[in-house]
Amino acid sequence: MNAPEPLAALAALAAATPAAPDFRDDGLMAGLGLPHAVPVAPQPLPQPHWVARSEALAAELGWADWLASDEALALLSGNAQPVGGTRATVYSGHQFGVWAGQLGDGRALLLGEAQTHSGPAVRVELQLKGSGRTPYSRMGDGRAVLRSSIREFLCSEAMAALGIPTTRALALVGSPLPVRRERMETAAVVTRVAPSFLRFGHFEHFTHTAADPSALQRLVDATTRRFYPEAAAAPCPAAALLEAVSRRTATLLAQWQAVGFCHGVMNTDNMSILGLTIDYGPFGFLDAYDPGHVCNHSDHQGRYAFARQPNVAFWNLHALAQALLPLMPDQEQALAALEAYRVVFPQALAGALRAKLGLREAHQHGSADGALADGWLRLLAQDRVDHGIAWRRLAGFASTEGADNAPLRDLFLDRAAFDVWAAGYAARLRAEASIDADRALRMNRVNPKFLLRNHLAETAIARAEEGDFGEVQRLLKVLQRPYDEQAEHEAYAGFPPDWAQQLEISCSS
Ligand code: AMP
Ligand code: MG
Repeated sequence: MNAPEPLAALAALAAATPAAPDFRDDGLMAGLGLPHAVPVAPQPLPQPHWVARSEALAAELGWADWLASDEALALLSGNAQPVGGTRATVYSGHQFGVWAGQLGDGRALLLGEAQTHSGPAVRVELQLKGSGRTPYSRMGDGRAVLRSSIREFLCSEAMAALGIPTTRALALVGSPLPVRRERMETAAVVTRVAPSFLRFGHFEHFTHTAADPSALQRLVDATTRRFYPEAAAAPCPAAALLEAVSRRTATLLAQWQAVGFCHGVMNTDNMSILGLTIDYGPFGFLDAYDPGHVCNHSDHQGRYAFARQPNVAFWNLHALAQALLPLMPDQEQALAALEAYRVVFPQALAGALRAKLGLREAHQHGSADGALADGWLRLLAQDRVDHGIAWRRLAGFASTEGADNAPLRDLFLDRAAFDVWAAGYAARLRAEASIDADRALRMNRVNPKFLLRNHLAETAIARAEEGDFGEVQRLLKVLQRPYDEQAEHEAYAGFPPDWAQQLEISCSS
């Protein structure tokens, strides 16, 4: 039976209007209200245009058609607002180990919390980054430049495809609006998506600077109820929250170390309460393996050097513990909760390295697996071998007696040292009756072929600054399948060019 006329017209209209994010008026930050989140309108980005969109994320969330619309461009460039308005949140933090006082969303705005239209109903927050000044902008202009926005957009999606917890990036909008940094650049806005953008710094803020002591309690209540229900039901929710965050952070750090990701600015305001990678600035994936690598040109002390990251995360968790202390009966609870990090991190890293080595069985006895992984990393460090390429080539290792393993061996200057290690590895593989071909398949699922190396980002940025966004979009597609061979994209998997060593990535964004 045909629908009556008016209903048919309505149905046609519904079909023609792509399903937009369904913003709810009872989101976590909206519910908290002042002093946690203040209403602030975005400053419209003039003459906005798409630079790139993550169709993969849009499809996951059920917003693919909407993301193709002019309505989406208006919303994601600050030229339109959701019905419930937009908000900036306040946080504080420790920067480079020093208390920095109040910071906050200086150039980010929450569009709100939306229910996704695909799969099980999930709620996510949408945030614009670079949408103009807020009460927390201090001396800043509230804008983000195209260069750093491309890096954040690509790396968010690359990390997600690697299977590493991260905030996501839905879209990247550009504009001719000039923005002054070390040179004149143009503005851009990234739309980020995450269950929550809460940072350790939000909790620190309400302990160390807020006038109203109940504000911390309300923040902890809302966070545990929503994201850590088991902690909410625990005898001491704040301690249980700290323990849960310690676990997630430990898992995250193990994944960063395993893949060779250097965050660059691990200040407590850049640490997610959900254990996500957040705030992509001067990050880098290791090229030549150097445990002391510092990817942030402004980090003169090397505080955030690659090998220091796990300790810095533990330090940051102590800052979170201190912030949560007012809600705990004594300090012992906090110290006990933090112990989770010391237990989980080494286990998670050992598990990740075992998988990267293609080992199926754990040989903890005499820490044989640890010695094998350490020996391999020491070899890489000694000859500054390319981290990503070495791990990927290891999949092709032949464990048969007398195999020369030339493509892998050729990566090393000290061939004799490689041979010693290789003999131990081969013996270990034979001991667990590993079949080389099966192991190669397993290893290729955990050792990525494609990483967002600085030089790849730089090339895409240089083209984009000339108005050609094709390379950003191509690179996005390649990075969305980091473990696949993609033989047609071999050029993206090669050694970095010599000029990559001179690249300096600063905090300026
Ligand atoms: P970040 O180093 O990007 O993590 O930022 C540290 C703090 O500075 C945060 O509170 C940011 O919101 C703020 N901030 C960074 N850049 C700007 C900017 N261009 N305008 C306003 N605030 C900014
Ligand atoms: Mg930040």
